[in-house]
Amino acid sequence: MKEYQTKNPYNGSVIATYSQDTAATINSKLDKAIAIEATWADMEIADRCQLLTNVAELLIDRKEDYAKLMTQEMGKPFSQGISEIEKCAWVCDFYAHNAEDLLADEIIETDADESFISNDSLGCVLAVMPWNYPFWQVIRFAAPTLTAGNTALLKHAQNVTGCSIAIEQLFLDAGYPVGCFQSLKAGHEEIEKLIANDGIKAVTLTGSEKAGKSIARTAGENLKKTVLELGGNNACIVWEDADLDQYIDTMVTARMQNTGQSCIAAKRFIVCEDIYDAFLEKFTKKVKSLKSGDPMDEDTFIGVMAREDLAEELQEQVNKSIKQGAKVVLGNMRNEAYFSPTILTDVTEDMPVFKEETFGPLAAIIKVKDRDEAIATAANSRLGLGSMLFTEDIDAAMAIISKIPDGAFFINDMVKSDPRLPFGGTKASGYGRELSREGILEFVNKKTVYIK
Ligand code: NAP
Repeated sequence: MKEYQTKNPYNGSVIATYSQDTAATINSKLDKAIAIEATWADMEIADRCQLLTNVAELLIDRKEDYAKLMTQEMGKPFSQGISEIEKCAWVCDFYAHNAEDLLADEIIETDADESFISNDSLGCVLAVMPWNYPFWQVIRFAAPTLTAGNTALLKHAQNVTGCSIAIEQLFLDAGYPVGCFQSLKAGHEEIEKLIANDGIKAVTLTGSEKAGKSIARTAGENLKKTVLELGGNNACIVWEDADLDQYIDTMVTARMQNTGQSCIAAKRFIVCEDIYDAFLEKFTKKVKSLKSGDPMDEDTFIGVMAREDLAEELQEQVNKSIKQGAKVVLGNMRNEAYFSPTILTDVTEDMPVFKEETFGPLAAIIKVKDRDEAIATAANSRLGLGSMLFTEDIDAAMAIISKIPDGAFFINDMVKSDPRLPFGGTKASGYGRELSREGILEFVNKKTVYIK
């Protein structure tokens, strides 16, 4: 039986040792999911919504314990962990209040006496999830998907196995029947086999492009639907008329929250030359003021990265970019899993910090001549999760909406997820949508019913 350990990235201490699930264990979990499928799907939606309300209440009751667990396993500052759990409760409340309407039959007038779309459940959905928001990524998938009458198996990132087990227990404590939501401790090979099993009806992955290609390939071979939420290289465009005094804190948070380990973080700051000096001064001042330290301390904003190898990867991207001419304005100090908040200027489009996703506290600053060049530079990315634009000229901003080839465009705010709005990417950032009406309808059989 394969064993692995989880470690606290702040002090290197071992948190726990786990045995991976054997093939027999994984199959028996799938059997449990299949055994409850029909009963769960037949339950009144209102009853499933009540269970979701229970989850929301438990999340709030336990938010300190869950935030601490995330801090220990992946170095998230405790205070940001509290916010994450509160947001999980919000998405549960949203679907508890709205799922019945969102899933209702959709009547369509035809020459039948009656015709409509019935949103039926699919069965067991496999979720493969990353470590960066260990509760949020899972709950934003599970809340709508379970409420639509599906069951779920979760394969979480190994380094947050404690969170994975805690989430399974959360659903049981909230009153969900055994088998509705189970977590697996599975390796990649076991996941491939599981995807091929007829009991799995669809797969959702939040993770890297590499994982996306691999999982989509296996799912495709087995004709299973996938939703892929992959990496991002979001542009933060600053036009010459941006109100820096009002928005500089937002821009810094957009890059540095969660110690820069967010798919929708602002990674490339594309700034018009007329405002460049003022932007750089205010941005640097604010980043300097962010407190690094023990992620358990309430006032720590920059914790450690989730694993030392991730900090090494970021260091490599920075080093290569410096060799190509980027200048360090701030930071660029690494100590094991800690990477100090770093600002690079003179960044050009051929550098790794422009072309690749940087998953840590690193801001790449690009100076451009004017608004048009800013838009063209922002669009030069293989990834398409979102863009943000800061300007006082809302009419001009509205006029370029169709020129932004991403899944989201935020004007005068950071790209962020909200249960009421769809969330997802284009290009190599993946496909499909989570949250809102779109999210709950991703994993249903939109059955056409026709009565003559
Ligand atoms: P990752 O290495 O792709 O891992 C994500 C999950 O996929 C983990 O559970 C991992 O398991 C699993 N996995 C990877 N390859 C697999 C394979 N071949 N077969 C089965 N499972 C596989 O990504 P990460 O480093 O944890 O997360 C960071 C990435 O996620 C970034 O690119 C980030 O932008 C992206 N992300 C996207 C969103 C979004 O909503 N679009 C949100 C958050 C993060 P193991 O841990 O066992 O390897």
